[in-house]
Amino acid sequence: MTAPKHIAIVGGGTAGWMTANLLRQRWARLGIEVTLIESADIGTIGVGEGSTPFLRQFFRTLGIAERDWMPACNATFKCGIRFPGWSSVPGYESYVHPFFNEADRELGNQFFTNACLRRRGQAADANPQDFFLAAELARQRRAPHYEVDAGLGTDYAYHFDAGLLGAFLRTHALGLGVRHIVDTVARVEQHDSGDIAALLLASGARVDADLFVDCSGFKGLLITETLGEPFHPYHDNLFNDRAIAIPTSLVEGEDIPSETVSTALRHGWAWQIPLTTRYGNGYVYSSGFVSDDEAERELREHLGAAAQGATARHLRMRVGCVKQHWRQNCVAIGLAQGFIEPLEATALMLIQFSVEHFITALEQDGFEPGRREAFNRRVAEMFEGVRDYVVAHYQLNTRRDTDYWRANRANRNISDRLASLLQVWDRGGDFEAALERHGAALMYLRPSWYALFAGMGRFAAELRPAAQAITAAQAKARLRLMAAAFSSHRNHLMGG
Ligand SMILES: Cc1cc2nc3c(=O)[nH]c(=O)nc-3n(C[C@H](O)[C@H](O)[C@H](O)COP(=O)(O)OP(=O)(O)OC[C@H]3O[C@@H](n4cnc5c(N)ncnc54)[C@H](O)[C@@H]3O)c2cc1C
Repeated sequence: MTAPKHIAIVGGGTAGWMTANLLRQRWARLGIEVTLIESADIGTIGVGEGSTPFLRQFFRTLGIAERDWMPACNATFKCGIRFPGWSSVPGYESYVHPFFNEADRELGNQFFTNACLRRRGQAADANPQDFFLAAELARQRRAPHYEVDAGLGTDYAYHFDAGLLGAFLRTHALGLGVRHIVDTVARVEQHDSGDIAALLLASGARVDADLFVDCSGFKGLLITETLGEPFHPYHDNLFNDRAIAIPTSLVEGEDIPSETVSTALRHGWAWQIPLTTRYGNGYVYSSGFVSDDEAERELREHLGAAAQGATARHLRMRVGCVKQHWRQNCVAIGLAQGFIEPLEATALMLIQFSVEHFITALEQDGFEPGRREAFNRRVAEMFEGVRDYVVAHYQLNTRRDTDYWRANRANRNISDRLASLLQVWDRGGDFEAALERHGAALMYLRPSWYALFAGMGRFAAELRPAAQAITAAQAKARLRLMAAAFSSHRNHLMGG
């Protein structure tokens, strides 16, 4: 195959527009045309308001500055995720998965040392929220930006309105020359080889292309419904299959939080995502343990008066992924390729990585599809890596209030890799070596694994006194000093 002349993308959700931008940005110089078809009758999922730090790279690749896209999407900064209520271990009832900053080097190392001491039975302080700058910035509702440049790198992610981000990316893609058709794909025509030949639209129009990208959402119009690629559900690992979203108002004049809060409820967890204009809230839960009505009642109770009169949206989630993300002349991106429940807000990151790997795979072999298998292996590995990290949250929970949490903790359907990490941690073994052995397949780096295992309080109940490098109180005092050099989140966003 030579370079494709025409790529057709089905779907105008975040996945479709992210893909259209990345492909056109990269390949316009080769004269490759990109057409995106979206249906006016089939909506987008309309949620997905948090990111990982990798979204910064996405905007850099497109040459889009924060000042251009953030206000247009009511976006805020995200220093990390706080997890109240997942653990009942005293002192560890809430912890933070921080994004890591250059300024963390010293206290961060002391956290690793303390966590190792505690893992080996000594009473050293090891809650990550006491040692990482991002946790303190979030506590003080500051932006991850120094008021005066300190020459130290900070890492952070974003929150944004999913609908506005889609609209922003659409405008940008059209500016890059992406063709846009609003119509519904009614039928798909295939060659004898099985390759997709053309999309037949409800209006009677026909779109021929040599490469097709399936961004049609959970149903996987091309990859699953047309090409028959099997879907592998993760329900043995991850029980949640439903979500409810309810927006609430920001309190006028209040500082805007710079973190996502993911609070454990009785049958799942509730997200709270701050935008500049409102909060996005939702409840992710398992229909095997609670009815939709009961879940909505529980979420409303959690949100209190703020949710009164607000409309709830009920969503079904298809959790898992296809085995071959690239099959024949079709690659699936976004919900069509798979989805891991949104606990770590990883979906857009997987979209971005999948498209980037696809571009590399095609370019490396001069557009011969010989790298299809390697691409499929790497994308499967990424999904499994993220899945394991998310599953670990449920394994490590110490709640005793419902069957849901007990069943999650008792679930033995976890990967061998995760089982071995848990074992090494619990036995006081060489956790560093265990992490290194799995390398890039883990997706999450050493600090994230430490933050999760230690943050949940996964330590022996009986501890000996320790000669620790630094106590939580000393670390927090240092963090408070460091945080004073950062801007208020509200002022940074609103220019106040
Ligand atoms: C509860 C929940 C919370 C989430 N939170 C996060 C988060 O915090 N962070 C994150 O990164 N991700 C999150 N996600 C995932 C994120 O929302 C999606 O990955 C992202 O929006 C991409 O969706 P999509 O574009 O693949 O699909 P969709 O948004 O469903 O778009 C599908 C598109 O396909 C089109 N289409 C379908 N059929 C046809 C047809 N026959 N003809 C033409 N067009 C068609 C539709 O019109 C639509 O434009 C969350 C998801 C859920 C369910």
